[in-house]
Amino acid sequence: MKDKRKTLVDKLFNQGYIKSQKVKNAMLKVPREQFMPQGTVYQAYADRPFPIGKGQTISAPHMVAIIAERLDLEGGMNILEIGTGWGYNAAVVAEVVGRKGHIYTVERIPELAAKARENLEKTGYSGVVTVIEGDGTRGYPEKAPYDRIYGTASAPKIPEPLKEQLKIGGKLIVPMGSDYFQDLISMVRVSEDEYQTKNLGGVVFVPMIGEHGWPED
Ligand code: SAM
Repeated sequence: MKDKRKTLVDKLFNQGYIKSQKVKNAMLKVPREQFMPQGTVYQAYADRPFPIGKGQTISAPHMVAIIAERLDLEGGMNILEIGTGWGYNAAVVAEVVGRKGHIYTVERIPELAAKARENLEKTGYSGVVTVIEGDGTRGYPEKAPYDRIYGTASAPKIPEPLKEQLKIGGKLIVPMGSDYFQDLISMVRVSEDEYQTKNLGGVVFVPMIGEHGWPED
């Protein structure tokens, strides 16, 4: 598995998705196979999303790399993730920010949150990643403000609570758009009420369902 992981990481590096040594090291270290359902483990190092149950997916490795690079992560950061899935992306981000940082990750589907906790425990990330069950479009005010906030599901617009829970100087990345066309939006909070927005390009994600996202059906 380690050889396959290295081959994939080298490919992502050559394709330009992985740019920094710290993201490269993190993706070389986190065992994606431990975050996937049993029957799909042999495909853990194919660069594509896979079903994890309840109509959801583990993100494709290149998408995890893009988010990790664009977040400009540094050691010790306080981070909020919306959409835990089975926990892979959170583990990669945790690997970059190190033991002095913390990732709070919110998942709306209880079965997925439970599985993520189990996966993070067995891979040694449970001390740096806390999985919260609930509606992530409301953020997680208990541990705000955050240095970085990112979503792994797409919203019709950037949820206001996420903007409010970002530190001044902090950065947020959330996929935004319709069912068919979405863009990865990056926002830097320049001051109390000023945000600089950048479009990082087209993406495809499952919907972010919640009070400040899409309705349930
Ligand atoms: N981060 C995951 C990974 O490492 O592969 C990818 C997760 S999947 C692409 C997106 C997740 O967002 C799904 O598990 C879905 O249930 C979750 N989700 C959707 N809306 C949400 C919300 N409002 N709050 C929390 N999680 C949400």
